[in-house]
Amino acid sequence: MSKQRRPLIAGNWKMNGLSQPAATELGELVRLSNEHAGPNCDILICPPATLLREMATIAKGSAVSLGGQDCHAKESGAHTGDISAEMLKDAGGDYCIVGHSERRADHGESSAVVKAKAEAALRAGLVAIVCVGETLAERDADKTLDLISSQVRNSLPEGATATTTVIAYEPVWAIGTGKTPTPDDVAVVHAHIRKELGSLINDSDKMRLLYGGSVKGSNAAELMAVANVDGALVGGASLKAADFWPIVETCI
Ligand code: PGA
Repeated sequence: MSKQRRPLIAGNWKMNGLSQPAATELGELVRLSNEHAGPNCDILICPPATLLREMATIAKGSAVSLGGQDCHAKESGAHTGDISAEMLKDAGGDYCIVGHSERRADHGESSAVVKAKAEAALRAGLVAIVCVGETLAERDADKTLDLISSQVRNSLPEGATATTTVIAYEPVWAIGTGKTPTPDDVAVVHAHIRKELGSLINDSDKMRLLYGGSVKGSNAAELMAVANVDGALVGGASLKAADFWPIVETCI
């Protein structure tokens, strides 16, 4: 892992979590992070929006940050069921995931929509974690790099900088399946994203690029050691502190 970028290990709880046992799990994560004062990496949990304020209260003053999993592109208004970036910020969030493949697939979110959401996150003072990734059919058809280029170019918020924006490469076929690309495959895509960013933003060498898709304690060290991998976006293995902490430990 490059020392010029501070790693980010982010947990995406997705639609999982009631007040209990979420409070217990986050409390345990906070305890572990407190025991390792001054960790060299950023730790983030993105719980369901219903838990954000409660989790932010538990994590207050610790090394664990909180974030949302999605936001609306507008600040407020007649959008029943939606949540704005301001609301996430108000509830204690510092980050917001946008363009997760489950949102792109389940809610038909195009890269233009993802970009608008990322811009809303930035306006609210949140760090946007912009997700990109190919399906298995796209990989098999050798379209991965073109697809990633297109998603990066069209999803990146206007005015993105390395402090306001993070990119997460998550191959759709690796999410929740237990399958991961080889470290070499990850290296190829991350190098490609880094190169692509060079023509899009000024401080491209500083932007953090996360890998996501079936990251767990047993494969994290190998994946985090890949060039241009500056952290992880973790789904299933972020739900329990005992599973998530070994992933964090690869960076501290
Ligand atoms: P997973 O999910 O770790 O359960 O594969 C990753 C993600 O969707 O962010």
